[in-house]
Amino acid sequence: MSNQTIGLDDRLYDYLLKATLREADVLAELRHETMQHPQARMQISPEQGQFMALLVQLMGARKTLEVGVFTGYSTLSVAMALPAAGRVVACDISEAFTAIALSYWQKANVAHKIDLRIAPALETLDDLIAMGESGTFDFAFIDADKSNYDNYYERALQLIRPGGLIAVDNTLWYGRVADLDVQDNRTQCIRALNEKVRDDKRVMMSLVPIGDGLLLALKQ
Ligand code: CA
Repeated sequence: MSNQTIGLDDRLYDYLLKATLREADVLAELRHETMQHPQARMQISPEQGQFMALLVQLMGARKTLEVGVFTGYSTLSVAMALPAAGRVVACDISEAFTAIALSYWQKANVAHKIDLRIAPALETLDDLIAMGESGTFDFAFIDADKSNYDNYYERALQLIRPGGLIAVDNTLWYGRVADLDVQDNRTQCIRALNEKVRDDKRVMMSLVPIGDGLLLALKQ
């Protein structure tokens, strides 16, 4: 079917990576280390990292936000794509995960671009708003606890400038969003956000079926 997004079986996905993935050695090393981690599934796919780096450069982004760092692959992809004076405010609650991240950010010589905030992300986002940073971010990547997705979206929308972009991860949620037998809280929160953003006149949007689904919302 040519009028529908193509499904990727293992062979085609393998082709996509082999033919088109540009991954710096330090990113590959981090990805392979994280694959040994019990929560390896929380790492974004490499072609998604490449896509987000492209978005950041396309926008000429200088200041970005990340909600949910884990071992830092997405942060590193974005930080490497930012100019020398670029800055990522990176939110996570785990010292253990971000210790891995930090070692790779240092190895890639981008640690100076990343302002890591270890605290519940809502507190960090509210602090940024209270400090007058609303409307100053170019890009925000949301990839954290799904039950707070709507809260993160609303705060990110406030923090980005008009023409800024929010990218929300896992919005196809391993296919569970389409399975009506699945009614757990996290799945319902993702479904609700997808439909809210579709109808949200404050943004232009597209859900890109890359990785586990990347919902893009461009602030008007
Ligand atoms: Ca994710």
